[in-house]
Amino acid sequence: MSIEDKAHCRGCHRLLNGHPYYTGKPAYIPETGARALSHHFGGWVCSSTCERRVFEQMKAENVWSSDCARMVAAAYDRHEANRVR
Ligand SMILES: [Zn+2]
Repeated sequence: MSIEDKAHCRGCHRLLNGHPYYTGKPAYIPETGARALSHHFGGWVCSSTCERRVFEQMKAENVWSSDCARMVAAAYDRHEANRVR
């Protein structure tokens, strides 16, 4: 059984309680019982720090062409702005 079949944080790769992301059911932070955040690009993250870490990892892996990276960065910034409101 791979980690992808378990609820886990994409940022720090620790296991969470609850359901893997693809099932569409919730996952929870083991220490607090709070619901895990769903990442803008899919998967669970345990904190906004880990959410940003995943985004930085995706940028560092250079998985997008530069135009695409700019669009994704703009979408991420909008997402961040929406959340503080
Ligand atoms: Zn994490």
